[in-house]
Amino acid sequence: MVDCGEGAQLGMMRQRLPFTRLRHIFLTHLHGDHVFGLPGLMGTLALGGNGGDITIHTFEEGKKQLSAIFNYFNRDTPFDIKFNVIKPEEAVILETKSLTVRTIPLKHRVDTVGFVFEEKPNLRHINSEMTKFHEVPHYMMNSLKEGMDFIRPDGTVVPNSVLTNDPTPSLSYAHMSDTMYMPELAEKIGPVDLLFHETTYLEDHAAMAAPRGHSTARQAAMVARDAGAKRLLTGHYSSRYNDDSLFAKEASEIFPNVILNKEGLKIDLG
Ligand SMILES: [Zn+2]
Repeated sequence: MVDCGEGAQLGMMRQRLPFTRLRHIFLTHLHGDHVFGLPGLMGTLALGGNGGDITIHTFEEGKKQLSAIFNYFNRDTPFDIKFNVIKPEEAVILETKSLTVRTIPLKHRVDTVGFVFEEKPNLRHINSEMTKFHEVPHYMMNSLKEGMDFIRPDGTVVPNSVLTNDPTPSLSYAHMSDTMYMPELAEKIGPVDLLFHETTYLEDHAAMAAPRGHSTARQAAMVARDAGAKRLLTGHYSSRYNDDSLFAKEASEIFPNVILNKEGLKIDLG
């Protein structure tokens, strides 16, 4: 989960998302609209009686403030609430067998980071017709998946490209909220499959955006375009606008593949 605004758990219930699968919560910054849902969510998780850990990735100050709340209101959780203290800098903050999560510092009114979630490269697919033809022994299959060539007992080499097919592409997602426009962000994010970049304002309020540490839809689209992202997801709209579709309209003048964020939206990254 990235950020946990007020009512996050109600949203999860409406979408029938399984609470038991929630193991990591990544907080971009310590503004109320990004964290006030945490005590309620922890309370509901405690009722489920699940064991294990939940790790909250946040700044030192977040650990301090949230620990005080949890220690009083969420004392009897059947799981451990752990903290991974992060800093507003570029760093890899989590690495699992299949996934890397890194932070990028953003420019907002308080310390803020964006998160980039990247799947590690997938293994190559065995071409079983060819491995049979070249009589590759079974114990070699894992090395083939990792890209190794096959060397016959007589010393001749069968290149890996003959025996395997390209792996399934690895997926990536970047989450950038909240921030003023940062042209340098594009290069740091890179060509992700999906970029969420906040679009608090439209260009008609561009003068207001930067001093408040926010971006316009047009600016988010420029970041998506310059990063080489496949798709841009808008969101974090100012309540001054009545028509959300204006955000997609403005962004798509700069970048074609815009998805308008709304509650309950599900996106297949592949
Ligand atoms: Zn904020």
